[in-house]
Amino acid sequence: MQKGTINVQTGNIFPIIKKFLYSEHEIFLRELVSNAMDATTKLKKLVSLGQTDVELGDLTIRVELDIKKKTLKIIDRGLGMTEEEVQKYINEIAFSGAEDFVKKYMGKDDKEISGIIGHFGLGFYSSFMVADKVEIKTLSYQPDAKAVKWTCDGSPDYTMSDAKKTERGTEITLHFAEDSIEFNDEHRILDMLRKFCRFLPYPIQFGMESKSEKIEGETDEEGNPKYNTTEVPRIVNNPDPIWKKAPAELKDEDYKAFYRELYPFTFEEPLFHIHINVDYPFNLNGILYFPKLKKNIEVQKNKIQLYCNQVFVTDNVENIVPDFLTLLHGVIDSPDIPLNVSRSYLQGDPNVKKISSHITKKVADKLEELFKTNREDYEKKWDDIRVFIRYGMLTNESFYERADKFALLNDTDGNHFTVEEYREKVKEAQTDKNGNLVLLYASDAEEQHTYISAAKAKGYSVLLMDSVIDVHFIDFLERKLEKATFKRVDAEMADKLIEKDKAAVVSKLNEEETKQVQEFFGSSIPSDVQVHVQVEALADDDAPVGMIQPEFLRRMNDMSQMGGGMEYMAGMGRSYTLLVNANHPTITGLVDTMDEEKRKATVSQLIDLALLSQGLLKGEKLSKFIQRSIDIIK
Ligand code: ADP
Ligand code: MG
Repeated sequence: MQKGTINVQTGNIFPIIKKFLYSEHEIFLRELVSNAMDATTKLKKLVSLGQTDVELGDLTIRVELDIKKKTLKIIDRGLGMTEEEVQKYINEIAFSGAEDFVKKYMGKDDKEISGIIGHFGLGFYSSFMVADKVEIKTLSYQPDAKAVKWTCDGSPDYTMSDAKKTERGTEITLHFAEDSIEFNDEHRILDMLRKFCRFLPYPIQFGMESKSEKIEGETDEEGNPKYNTTEVPRIVNNPDPIWKKAPAELKDEDYKAFYRELYPFTFEEPLFHIHINVDYPFNLNGILYFPKLKKNIEVQKNKIQLYCNQVFVTDNVENIVPDFLTLLHGVIDSPDIPLNVSRSYLQGDPNVKKISSHITKKVADKLEELFKTNREDYEKKWDDIRVFIRYGMLTNESFYERADKFALLNDTDGNHFTVEEYREKVKEAQTDKNGNLVLLYASDAEEQHTYISAAKAKGYSVLLMDSVIDVHFIDFLERKLEKATFKRVDAEMADKLIEKDKAAVVSKLNEEETKQVQEFFGSSIPSDVQVHVQVEALADDDAPVGMIQPEFLRRMNDMSQMGGGMEYMAGMGRSYTLLVNANHPTITGLVDTMDEEKRKATVSQLIDLALLSQGLLKGEKLSKFIQRSIDIIK
């Protein structure tokens, strides 16, 4: 037997391993299984190169849990290690001292450490995060190799001796430490295997499972088919995920089936997929799916899984792909994304930059293709993808440049236009006297129905901008488009939405009467709503009163409510303007000889109607309005 002391200059590495990796203890299994995979791949490679003629045989990797002994074994039939190799790869490299160790695996800057946990391979030594004793038994594929046994109990001492092992490959045994006994649990290990090893390239067996097979031609008394149940090895992974295959080999159904495999708890089908398949100048494979997006984008992120040669790395791809792409689902597999660096560093990495712009381009290509080849179908999907596209345009300049071709605007009647088409369509009716194009929109087709109808009656078109992101999108488009502004339909009375060059309407009320009307309304406004009264000469066929929210103030308010950096507006509440049409017969009638009581009732009724059109009439005010309306009918 050979004994040795681990060469540690600055103390024991084990406390360091435990301390720094506290939150991600699970990854020990990923590391050990990927080592087993590596050993298998290497052996296969040697055989294919003709460097050895060993019989490959069954290459299944076995994971065995012994609850009583509190041990976990990872057994492979890969190339194994000779004594020299154990010495070199296990003893020397890993035991080269805490300092080197930290330097090698954790980057030079200590501050970076917390950021990289879980995103780099700590390798074989991560087993000491959960085990207080680890054994390796290994037999190299080489003809005269002797089996070796290596044991280490977590102190800087290890032992090496001959082993009784007749089968080629490596067997790692972990003895779980008391503080890691949570891993001595079948479900826990199964979950971890399914998470990290789901798509590893060789079959991984963990325990057994029962399998029922129909027995041909046999039925029970009631005529139901009979089944034969047998115990078969439980293979926990799919060694052959479709992202590795050529797109030409795959059908739409294969992509859908894979989506269900990835997200067994998602019931909605994806809208479409993108298969990414690049070998040069970097290596990138993957399948991205467009999900049906709901309006709230925050809760829908982190559905993309990142793999490195089929080893699961993370489902948080932040900083690896542009933010808007994190709304997509699917997998990305690339060995070219550096994993042993911090997140903030990733963004600056040239490979990551290239990969991320490649994905952006692919996504834009796909959208453009869908739009061009089947516009009708694309329009049907528009509602589900517009949040994504607008978010992309807002946050990614190169996507914005591409999106010109396939980003649509939709009006309140369900028609779709590209921005260019829409400009053309409304140019004539909606250019104001200064030559600016005024684009009208509604943020809620139901609530703003009255205003939408009024605008349409003037021959205007109204866009529907009803998702959370649209407040920002409108602002953004205004900056991008030349000579165009957006106005919500309730920003003015219909007649004034778009200022035209025409003679001013003459008021039927003189100055004295205007003041009177102002006073009638001003004194009757309920004290709990902020309404400013304005008497104006409008067309006599316009409504007698209208409640508007001037565009600028309303937008500031919307922004502050969304936390858009105008929080100082938040306390101000909404401000509305009650427009009173000085030329409407009901209004001019008020200043004539109408009796006091009737006038008060009329003014209250008009105010309530205006409040109602903005959804401001609630509670007691609403009850009073209903009662008053009934009285009027009587
Ligand atoms: P890495 O996998 O990044 O090289 P590890 O610490 O995981 O680092 O492993 C160190 C080395 O030990 C490997 O490169 C390999 O040579 C050897 N090794 C580890 N596990 C096995 C195994 N199951 N079979 C053969 N060799 C192994
Ligand atoms: Mg490794």
